[in-house]
Amino acid sequence: MTEELNLVDCTRCTNWDEKERYFKACPHCHNTKKVIAPETVLCNMCGGPQRPLGTHNEQYSHGLEKASVEGGYDSYHLFDCTEYTFSFCEKCLRELFTKCKIPPSVSCRLDDIENPTDYARDLVEYEYRLWKDNGGHHQAYLDRKCNFVKDCLNRAEYTQLISNDFTENCCCEEHKELWGYGNSKLTKFIPNVLKPFL
Ligand SMILES: [Zn+2]
Ligand SMILES: [Zn+2]
Ligand SMILES: [Zn+2]
Repeated sequence: MTEELNLVDCTRCTNWDEKERYFKACPHCHNTKKVIAPETVLCNMCGGPQRPLGTHNEQYSHGLEKASVEGGYDSYHLFDCTEYTFSFCEKCLRELFTKCKIPPSVSCRLDDIENPTDYARDLVEYEYRLWKDNGGHHQAYLDRKCNFVKDCLNRAEYTQLISNDFTENCCCEEHKELWGYGNSKLTKFIPNVLKPFL
């Protein structure tokens, strides 16, 4: 029995005219103008959505989607001539990576060559992101603690301005060197109570 696929309009090629379509195929829908509904693409591990639903990128594949592996003659844990197909979402991949005895090698296209990243540093940044999204960063600001580094116990001495606008990013003396980029600058710490007067 074939499953009935839930299809939606392809967003990648909506603006293509017929001439364009004649010369090239949309890599998402192969010019059928329809793609699989993103909410139906599920992770085998957690059963949750594989895609960042509700974003502009929900029609692009994320994580390991429809990956497959096949056993060979001397395979033990998988069977010979048998193909296994599965999807793992990014969250589950992160959990797998973190369990690895030998961490995955990491390279980031945004890194400078002098200071390449590795999995340990990548994980620190991921944990910082979670901490920030779970309110730790905001709470640190309210408590006047440095929030450039997760759980830094030092008192915040500076507030970061981006294009002269106030942010809740604040840092201690020790971590202030880490702030220097583009249109950001440090000013004396601005506590929550003073914010309305800015
Ligand atoms: Zn398309
Ligand atoms: Zn998952
Ligand atoms: Zn600090």
